[in-house]
Amino acid sequence: MNNMKKINVREFVWGRLRGVVGRIIPERTKLYKFLYLNAVKFQSTKRNRRQNSLTFQAHIMDSCNLNCAGCNNFSTLCENGFVDIEVFEKDINRISQLSGGKINKLLLTGGEPLLHPEIIKFIDISRKYFVEGEISLITNGVLLLRQTDEFWKSCKNNNVKVYITPYPIKLNYEEIAKTVNIYNVVLEYFYEGGKNTFRKIPLNFMGCGDILKNFKRCPHSSSCVSLRDGKLYGCQVPAYIDYFDNYFKQGFKVSEKDYIDIYDVKTVDEILDFVCKPIPFCRYCDVDNMEFGIKWKVSKKEISEWI
Ligand code: SF4
Ligand code: SF4
Repeated sequence: MNNMKKINVREFVWGRLRGVVGRIIPERTKLYKFLYLNAVKFQSTKRNRRQNSLTFQAHIMDSCNLNCAGCNNFSTLCENGFVDIEVFEKDINRISQLSGGKINKLLLTGGEPLLHPEIIKFIDISRKYFVEGEISLITNGVLLLRQTDEFWKSCKNNNVKVYITPYPIKLNYEEIAKTVNIYNVVLEYFYEGGKNTFRKIPLNFMGCGDILKNFKRCPHSSSCVSLRDGKLYGCQVPAYIDYFDNYFKQGFKVSEKDYIDIYDVKTVDEILDFVCKPIPFCRYCDVDNMEFGIKWKVSKKEISEWI
């Protein structure tokens, strides 16, 4: 019991500290890095705790219209990555059968999901199979003002929140805010690193990293479970590393232990047990040398953006 209390106090203190650190200490300093990595580590007891319901993300598009340097979904290295809506529906239906139609959260993401001409159907399908649980659409916002009346009504009727990940590009935020107000849709902003900056977890080609240590200090662990073609991966890195490897030919190995096949399991508990544990692929991440405060820029498709 004492131990339990200690852990919670520690999580609370480091959680608070992480928020304060982000606001007052410049990202590119050693102090920021030290405090950030320790905050993530101390919060890992909470973040990596086995949950009672599933949180996962699913790409609607693997490619993107922004092409940011170092994109951690490797969307920059993918062209015309349209997700097949029939495969998506089959997979969502399967997870719904396993979970009784209840989830904690589903994030419809990419790449840029608004590039998909069938985006409205993806939204409708998601809510059709998950009557209970939060559903959000994550977008860079570039195409938001081009969306139709039908799109906004679908977000509203399906209770889908829209999150914008802001980048230093021209966007008419005022007009976007007016539009979401007209349709009474919830809009929020999602910052991965600081404003206008990126974080990078360099890839370690040797694959000699300490799996458990990386997992505990990684902000993606247990929080970026990714659905792709009937499989739930521990995070987006092994799920989409094939785009990186097709381009740079580094020979990363994704094993059957890096994902769980949703058609092989019999209960959602098997999935929940899997997603809170480290995966072999964590050995390829150099979390100790994570970089912060990287200025946003358009990718030149150079390997240095990811290592
Ligand atoms: S907007 Fe997001 S998904 Fe698109 S390239 Fe940039 S980081 Fe990747
Ligand atoms: S593979 Fe593991 S260490 Fe690497 S980003 Fe994913 S969760 Fe983090």
